[in-house]
Amino acid sequence: MKIAILSQDSSLYSTRRLKEAGEEREHQIRVIPYLRCYMNITSRRPSIIFNGTPLENFDAVIPRIGASRTFYGTAVVRQFEVMGVFSANESQAISRSRDKLRCMQILAREGVGLPVTGFAHATQDIDGLIETVGGAPLVIKLLEGTQGIGVVLAETYQAAKSVIEAFRGLDANILVQEYIKEAGGADIRCFVVGGEVIAAMKRQGAKGEFRSNLHRGGNAEKIDLSVEERTTAIKAAKAMGLNVAGVDLLRSNHGPVIMEVNSSPGLEGIEKATEMDVAGKIIEYVVQNAEPNNVKDSIKY
Ligand code: ADP
Ligand code: MG
Repeated sequence: MKIAILSQDSSLYSTRRLKEAGEEREHQIRVIPYLRCYMNITSRRPSIIFNGTPLENFDAVIPRIGASRTFYGTAVVRQFEVMGVFSANESQAISRSRDKLRCMQILAREGVGLPVTGFAHATQDIDGLIETVGGAPLVIKLLEGTQGIGVVLAETYQAAKSVIEAFRGLDANILVQEYIKEAGGADIRCFVVGGEVIAAMKRQGAKGEFRSNLHRGGNAEKIDLSVEERTTAIKAAKAMGLNVAGVDLLRSNHGPVIMEVNSSPGLEGIEKATEMDVAGKIIEYVVQNAEPNNVKDSIKY
């Protein structure tokens, strides 16, 4: 089978491992830096050109689109889709997952466990917003943040108010969220492939840090999930229309609550913590599903 990995950097751990896992299984794997592709969107004969030659006869693509490259990256994935090529994650689902608010709205509609969350831009009613999530302590997040940057814990009502005012001054969209203190600075990454959790790890934030992001100095270890955690992760990935997803959840007093659902989850942390061949599972899923025009996403939002 001929598979394209859409990635800007062939030296990244995730990209290397996917290529390796594909080649071990005797597939032909090509890493394609999607920003260097251009597209011909002529009626009836859509094509993608890279390095002067059309990319043809691919059976599947595995998108690894960087968070800051969602617009162009998903356009390239979509072009493969209109050419009938199977994608591990569809362009629509990737776009959907990149918007934290849209994510929360869809998950809420499906009844997936979530922290109590409010969303605002320039409200004058800061008291009302703080009250929606039950008062301080609470967590305030910039809608566009990643890797824990732009996530603030406000311990008191006054601190919360000042931070919300400051973000309003910056013209930013914010999420205000109930603080899940009992999570103890840890979260759980569930790696979902084709509707199954294939690996899971617990990430613990550095001492005194409530954010568990590995980029913020956290560390990771393998963990066994409860049945409820497993079903919540599967339901979240499905609700987002993602076949491959990193579902992050917190252990709260009211059961597992979803933090976010990632459409290009990194492989390094999870493979090292669990010693599992996660890349291999992704390749196997893709190979099993790579029929032409196999579209799975049917979500309306
Ligand atoms: P990012 O997209 O920047 O990773 P997250 O929403 O995942 O932002 O938040 C980063 C980390 O902060 C989470 O992994 C979690 O450990 C911690 N955190 C975020 N929101 C809450 C919350 N409501 N209660 C407790 N901890 C939280
Ligand atoms: Mg996160």
